[in-house]
Amino acid sequence: MFVKFTKNQQNILEFLKQLKGEITAQDLHMNLKEKDFKIGLATVYRTLKYLHLQGIIQERITPNGESLYELIKDSHHHHLNCVNCGRSSLLKEDFCPINKQLTNWCASQNFKLYYHTLEFFGLCEHCQNEVNKANLSN
Ligand SMILES: [Zn+2]
Ligand SMILES: [Zn+2]
Repeated sequence: MFVKFTKNQQNILEFLKQLKGEITAQDLHMNLKEKDFKIGLATVYRTLKYLHLQGIIQERITPNGESLYELIKDSHHHHLNCVNCGRSSLLKEDFCPINKQLTNWCASQNFKLYYHTLEFFGLCEHCQNEVNKANLSN
């Protein structure tokens, strides 16, 4: 797929390429302004939405409803979210365990899959230990 990018899209893509990890639209907007790019927050949102639909970036919604964006390098990945401390870690770095199966399955339904989201919610190792300790002292 050949996609021609506008200047704003290129600037955002360049920034996300340098970035390690995820960023909110507001933080991205602030960072671009610090680099003297003249871009409005609405354009940042619109561009992120467009890049997301193109399967170039992934969007993750945190348990408190905030959207985080990240460039998809080789493959997108999924996060394990701890409901207790709010920390999130990668399921496996740059790896989606079900992408191929989903794409094949959707193809068998005559559906062309663009992207999927999958979030895991539970207790991280640290918080499980805390829970165990609390149970022992009761
Ligand atoms: Zn935790
Ligand atoms: Zn996936």
